[in-house]
Amino acid sequence: MITDSKPETPARPLCRHTPPCPTSEASDRDAAHVISAHPEQGWSLLCNGIVLFEDFGELLPDGQSNAARRGALAGCSPHRRAG
Ligand SMILES: [Zn+2]
Repeated sequence: MITDSKPETPARPLCRHTPPCPTSEASDRDAAHVISAHPEQGWSLLCNGIVLFEDFGELLPDGQSNAARRGALAGCSPHRRAG
């Protein structure tokens, strides 16, 4: 008997933002909305499925991880918040 009823997480959650968030493949993917912030744990889930860490490291939906890109991102998204 299967007891785990948690639904599978889609590779790319449906974006309801306007304008739509960049996809996880886009060069500006880090600009996607934060849909689940966990500042106490140092990471946030972006609308396009990326997990963004507070040092700007990334975990992509397909499992790839990218090293911190603080230098490239420092000027573009100074204020992140849930919503
Ligand atoms: Zn979105």
